[in-house]
Amino acid sequence: DARHHSLAFALYEIGRDEVHLRKITVTHRLQQAILNGGFELLFQPQYDLRAGRIHSAEALIRWQDPELGRMFPDEFIPLAEQSGDITLITDWVLNEALRQMAAWQADGHDLGVSINLSARDVLQDDFIDGLIARLRHDDIRRDALMFEITESAVMADPEHALRNLQRLYDAGVSLAMDDFGTGFSSLSQLKSMPVHELKIDKSFVLRLDEDRDDQRIVRSTIEMAHHLGLSVIAEGVENRASLALLYDMGCDAIQGYYLSKPKTASELREWLATFDQ
Ligand code: C2E
Ligand code: CA
Ligand code: CA
Ligand code: CA
Repeated sequence: DARHHSLAFALYEIGRDEVHLRKITVTHRLQQAILNGGFELLFQPQYDLRAGRIHSAEALIRWQDPELGRMFPDEFIPLAEQSGDITLITDWVLNEALRQMAAWQADGHDLGVSINLSARDVLQDDFIDGLIARLRHDDIRRDALMFEITESAVMADPEHALRNLQRLYDAGVSLAMDDFGTGFSSLSQLKSMPVHELKIDKSFVLRLDEDRDDQRIVRSTIEMAHHLGLSVIAEGVENRASLALLYDMGCDAIQGYYLSKPKTASELREWLATFDQ
C-alpha cells in the first residue's frame, strides 16, 4: 500500500544518500593519498607457456587509507575515473613499475611489466603526449612495457581512442586487449585495433576445467587471435587442469592464482629467486 511504498522510498533515498556520501568520502581520501602516499603496487607474474618461464608481471594497485582501511581497485578506480584523478594514479603506477623493472634487471631477471590504462587515460591527449615523451628516454625498456586496455575504454569514443593507441603502438610499447569477451566488440573488430595481445577474461577461465562452453569459447578465441597475428594470455587460471587445457589449446601465456597471487615487489623478487626456471 501507499505507506509501504513511501517507507520503501524513504529507505531507498537514505541508501542512495549513503552511497553518495561514501563516494564523496572515498574520492576525497583518494586525493589525499595522491598527495601524501598510501598506495602500493603489487605484481602478479605471467608465465610464458612456450618458453616455460616467467616473462612478465601485471602491476595491480592497492591502497591502504588510515580512515577507510584497505581499499580495493574495483571500488576506487571507477571513482578516480569519474573525478579525473586517474591519470595521476596511472602516473604513479608507471613510475613505480619502471623503478621495479630496473631493480629486477639489476637482479638479472628479464621481466616485463603490464600496466592497466583506463578509458580516461586513453582519451586524454596531454596524458598520452606526456607518456610518449617519457617513453622516448633511452633508459626505458619500451619492448618490456605492455599497456592493458579494455574493450569498453575503446568503445566510449573509438576514433579518438584508436588514434591515441596507435600513437602508443608507434612509440614501441606493446598493447593488450584486457577482459576480452566481456565487451561488445567482436573478434573481427580486433583486426583494426593496434594491439599485440589478447587477454581472455577470467570469467571464461575460472571454471574452464568443468565448463564445456567455456572450453569452446576459449579454444576458438585463441585460434582466431592467432590467425590475426595476436598472442593470447589467459587470466584467472586457478588450477592445474585449466592450465593443461590452455596449454593444449595453444595459449601463449597464463596468469592466475594457480601460479601466484599478486605479490609485493620484494615477495616477487624472493619468489623469482627460488622459482625453478
Ligand atoms: P584486471 O585488470 O582484470 O586485473 C585482474 C584481477 O583479477 C586482479 O584483481 C587480480 O588480482 C585478479 N586475479 C588474478 N588472478 C586471479 C585468479 O586466478 N582468480 C581470481 N578470482 N582473480 C584473479 P584486482 O587486483 O583486485 O584488480 C581489479 C581491477 O582493478 C583490475 O582488473 C583493473 O581493472 C583494476 N586495476 C587494478 N590496478 C589498477 C591500476 O593500477 N590502474 C588501473 N587503471 N586499474 C587497475
Ligand atoms: Ca588488467
Ligand atoms: Ca582482466
Ligand atoms: Ca577486470
